[in-house]
Amino acid sequence: MPQNISAMNAQTPKAAAGSAGRVAVDPATQRLRGARWLPSPNFDERPDPADVSLLVIHAISLPPDRFGGPWIDDLFLNRLDHAAHPYFASLRDLKVSAHCLIRRDGALTQYVAFDQRAWHAGKSQYRGRERCNDFSIGIELEGCDRKPFTQAQYRRLTRVTRALLRAYPRLARDRIVGHSDIAPGRKTDPGPRFDWPRYLAGLDA
Ligand SMILES: [Zn+2]
Repeated sequence: MPQNISAMNAQTPKAAAGSAGRVAVDPATQRLRGARWLPSPNFDERPDPADVSLLVIHAISLPPDRFGGPWIDDLFLNRLDHAAHPYFASLRDLKVSAHCLIRRDGALTQYVAFDQRAWHAGKSQYRGRERCNDFSIGIELEGCDRKPFTQAQYRRLTRVTRALLRAYPRLARDRIVGHSDIAPGRKTDPGPRFDWPRYLAGLDA
């Protein structure tokens, strides 16, 4: 998978595969150091740029239940070839994004700066407050409801989460949810195979 790796993050082929490396938010760019930067046009201004107070975990696979390929990047960049797979026709005219994607091998891509509003949650509600995109960060894991996530993904997600908790004081451990929690009945991701106890315990380790 082609990617731009910062010097800090490129000591070994293993690091290049995305399973290791220091993760921190650059306050000037509102981007994660060490992430591949692939800017999506699907974003706009947050109503209150200082209100970054919820982390939403998602899962995505394109086509469904299949991993690899350029399709997720292409979807977020509005360049998906809708003829490449029958399922893709249903995604025509969809304009979506997430702040970040963590691939099966742990490789990290960022599409939207954290002080901007990415379009990941859709119709949603958290503790009585609607439009979660306004005040949340969305992280996609390459995955699906049927297959377990990888160790490299948990490791990377843990590091990214710690970096976000350090950078955004209104975020907190008890303000991390799944997409299914804020859009119940409409969304199932990150799904039953996402190991919440493992993830949350890892944040304390
Ligand atoms: Zn989702």
